[in-house]
Amino acid sequence: MKLRILVLGAGFGGLELTSILSETIGDRLDLTLIDQNDSFYFGFSKLDVMFGRKSTDAIMIPYKSIEKPGVQFRQETILEIDPLKKCVKTSRATYEADVLVVAMGANYDINATPGLAEANEYYSLAGAEKLREAIPAFTKGHAVVGVCGAPFKCPPAPSEAALMLHDYLVRAGVRDACTISLVIPYASPIPPSPDSSKALIKAFEERGIKFIPQRKVRSIDPSAKTAVLDDGTELPFDLFLGIPKHVAPDVVLQSGLAENGWIPVDKDHLLTKFANVYAIGDVTSVGTPKAGVFAEGAAKIAATSIIAAFTGSESHATYTGAGSCYIEFGEGKVGRVDVDFFSGPKPFGIHQEASEMLVEAKEYFGSSRKKRWFE
Ligand SMILES: Cc1cc2nc3c(=O)[nH]c(=O)nc-3n(C[C@H](O)[C@H](O)[C@H](O)COP(=O)(O)OP(=O)(O)OC[C@H]3O[C@@H](n4cnc5c(N)ncnc54)[C@H](O)[C@@H]3O)c2cc1C
Repeated sequence: MKLRILVLGAGFGGLELTSILSETIGDRLDLTLIDQNDSFYFGFSKLDVMFGRKSTDAIMIPYKSIEKPGVQFRQETILEIDPLKKCVKTSRATYEADVLVVAMGANYDINATPGLAEANEYYSLAGAEKLREAIPAFTKGHAVVGVCGAPFKCPPAPSEAALMLHDYLVRAGVRDACTISLVIPYASPIPPSPDSSKALIKAFEERGIKFIPQRKVRSIDPSAKTAVLDDGTELPFDLFLGIPKHVAPDVVLQSGLAENGWIPVDKDHLLTKFANVYAIGDVTSVGTPKAGVFAEGAAKIAATSIIAAFTGSESHATYTGAGSCYIEFGEGKVGRVDVDFFSGPKPFGIHQEASEMLVEAKEYFGSSRKKRWFE
């Protein structure tokens, strides 16, 4: 008998889980992977698009190239999830399965921040493409990189945007005519790693980037061109690079799976409160940051648990919430932080200084995933 699995969302988590199941039990697998898009792209590619380092076409990896034993990909929009019946309705069909895996990531609620719709954000691909046109026109005045809500994906990404903007303006010969401010809700850029935070704060100081910690952007006044922070401070801007408030997809919120906005799961198996329904990655409240590496780590644990239940063996894997994040420091260098959220009494991170060698390591991080998931 084949194991019928529905994987909802073909992002970091869904692709990793699908690849492991296919490799391990492909001959006994009937897995349907569903995503609304026709292609995958890495979250960090949005920085490349925004700063004109890569075209949109160059970052797209089409799902149609997935050819894995026991796997079929469907480009459809998920409209309803019934976790009790493990039944899913899409724009084209209705599916039933033995096991459901929800890996639908986080969406953006642009309207949660008044005025943001009339300014710019770079967390969506469309937003990054819009900014690619707007940034070259910014030759003097104030730039603000501002986080509008927590949790948000990839905690280092606002710092990366500020450092990359600095480089861009230096290359354009206009840096002296511009200021850059960075607003984040945490006390330091990467709270679990004091060393990475120190290195980033030093980089901000060296480049004259104003770091404003423990604040969020509450609203934008598009006519006055000011960002209003949660303590009432007004920051004038000529260029705004926003990080919008994140939310779980509506269909997840309507399914009964979520509590307080995200899906709670147990750390040992990534199971939800519904039998044989798993959730992995950004859509959960498992306790790790919203980042691809953690979605991938959760996928490994969920896949092990699914295989163990199917083959009647025991799963001994434990989710340590560990992962390595690469950090763009600008000036052709990338740093790295190796973080572990659950092994010790509190989360801790080990910093690797920014270098040209880590640029190659980041490239390999992307190319090795592309190979594993798509070839
Ligand atoms: C600027 C930026 C930089 C980043 N840099 C990094 C980095 O360097 N390292 C890192 O690890 N992470 C990084 N991230 C974060 C990373 O992209 C995400 O955390 C990661 O993709 C989450 O994986 P996931 O599988 O949970 O969700 P996603 O990868 O977001 O996948 C969810 C999938 O579900 C699909 N979906 C959602 N709703 C529906 C629906 N109704 N019907 C059908 N399909 C649906 C979506 O189309 C999507 O493909 C970055 C993010 C941003 C924005």
